[in-house]
This record gives sequence, C-alpha cells and structure tokens, in this order.
Amino acid sequence: MQCERCKSLIPEGEQMEFHGQILCEDCYMDLLSPPKICDPWAVHSARSFLKNSSTELNFSPIQQKILEILQDEGPQEPASLCERLQIKETDLERDIAALRHMEKIRGELKGRKKLIRLW
Ligand SMILES: [Zn+2]
Repeated sequence: MQCERCKSLIPEGEQMEFHGQILCEDCYMDLLSPPKICDPWAVHSARSFLKNSSTELNFSPIQQKILEILQDEGPQEPASLCERLQIKETDLERDIAALRHMEKIRGELKGRKKLIRLW
C-alpha cells in the first residue's frame, strides 16, 4: 500500500482514507490539521507595528525642514518655501499634503495670500 500524497509505503492495516485518498498516518494528520493561515499573534504584532509607525511619524528630510522653518519663522508662503528648500512647487505640494494629513500643518488665507502654518 502506498500513500497517495507522500508516496511512502504504508504498513498493512495502517492506511488512512481521506476524501477518497489512501494516506499514511502522517499525511492524514497533516490534512486534518492544516497549518494555520493566520497566526493571531502575527496579526497582532503587525497591527501594533503599523500603529507605532504612524505615531512616530517618519518625516522625509524635506518635511522636517518645512516644519523647522514654520516653527522658527511662522507661517510661510508656499512659493517662499519652495525657494528656501530648492524644490518644485509640485514636490512641495506633495509634502504639504502629507504633513496636512498628519495634522502637522495647515493652510491659512491671509488676505489674498495663501500661507502654510503649523497646525
Ligand atoms: Zn503520506
């Protein structure tokens, strides 16, 4: 008698049947207790990892610089931030959007001027 799964020889009388397959005892046990797909502990640590990384807030160097300037010098016009940081306005906007999303900065209208300031 041969196991249909691992092809090993099964001693007479020790074969198991599972969904119509002749299996050795090892394979039979394997199939009865399939490996757990989601380990609750792994899920838990993945979650707390995500949580940590969002509370630690990893800023890019540019984002850090933006925050420093705003902190030291108060609200700034986007154009002057671009000039200071030597980046394009589209790049600035992306970082501004990210920082705004983290509730670190916000836009402010002063008269007709749009300013970026700390939250
Ligand atoms: Zn087997």
